[in-house]
Amino acid sequence: MNILQECQGASRIAVTGHVRPDGDCVGSCLALFQYLQKMMPQARVQVYLEQPADIFSGIRGYDQIDSACEDTDPYDVFFVLDSVPERMMEPAKKIYDRAKKTVNIDHHISNEGAGDLSWVVPEASSTAELIYELIDKSAMDADIAMAIYIGIIHDTGVFQYSNTSPRTMEIGAQLIGYGFDFPRLILETFYQRTYVQSQVLGRVLLESIRFMDGSCIVSCLDRKTMDFYNVNHKDLDGIVNHLRNIKGIHCAVFMYQTDVLEYKVSLRSDEWVDVSKVAAFFGGGGHMRAAGCTMRGTFHDCVNNLSLHIKEEMEKQE
Ligand code: AMP
Ligand code: MN
Repeated sequence: MNILQECQGASRIAVTGHVRPDGDCVGSCLALFQYLQKMMPQARVQVYLEQPADIFSGIRGYDQIDSACEDTDPYDVFFVLDSVPERMMEPAKKIYDRAKKTVNIDHHISNEGAGDLSWVVPEASSTAELIYELIDKSAMDADIAMAIYIGIIHDTGVFQYSNTSPRTMEIGAQLIGYGFDFPRLILETFYQRTYVQSQVLGRVLLESIRFMDGSCIVSCLDRKTMDFYNVNHKDLDGIVNHLRNIKGIHCAVFMYQTDVLEYKVSLRSDEWVDVSKVAAFFGGGGHMRAAGCTMRGTFHDCVNNLSLHIKEEMEKQE
């Protein structure tokens, strides 16, 4: 795919990602946004996302993110990154449907390809890595490099998860050559937690329950507890990794309440369970080792249903 060729003659271009945008989603959307602004100065480029966490506010373009989507004039090209179109925030769906051309760039194995043109590479560590591959390097600068770098470090756990390839490391090396303060970015966007985020992490670990002979673990935050600590979903990123890191655990499940009898579920695993299959069964998706979905029912219903599918995936490996 050639991004600039796809945008040839366009005067209105939009970029969006998925609901509750994570580091890869924000990084790849803002990298593409900056690139298009630079290469297509005659076009109006707009980035639509739900308000991302404050930790991403240092990325150029963050202040221009539109979360309302009130401009309803049709777009010539509409990019959906790191997501299938169904997972876009609601207000963006209306304008997506009216776009003249839709382009989908993603690395989720569960994405079967969508839009007029799709570029889905499940082997890529992150959508940000794909954006790096697709952009003309003569346009690269420290701000675009930093946005891509954030995307990569968030989806690879700072070059740590199995989705990190030799190519990912090469790209990381190229990116830090542009001279942004990468140790500070890693600390401030990936590892650092506020005091209250740390307290909530503590609660989650303390109240976790192991199941299936101790091979799986689940913990759940209900709305009441989230309100007590005054936290929202943006404060919970990364918690599930702490459950996954526990010795002997093959599959970790973290859930938080999103509505009455509704939970956002995050799944993480080692080589024993393909959690993308588990999540896909419940209408979600993701990757083999990291996936998510939304489930309805009581906490116990959700865990019972999940455990049946986790068991099925585990048995395939035996
Ligand atoms: P999370 O547990 O939300 O951090 O998500 C883990 C991985 O699964 C990320 O790559 C997400 O983009 C993906 N994912 C989470 N929820 C969904 C969903 N409902 N549909 C498709 N992919 C998802
Ligand atoms: Mn991603």
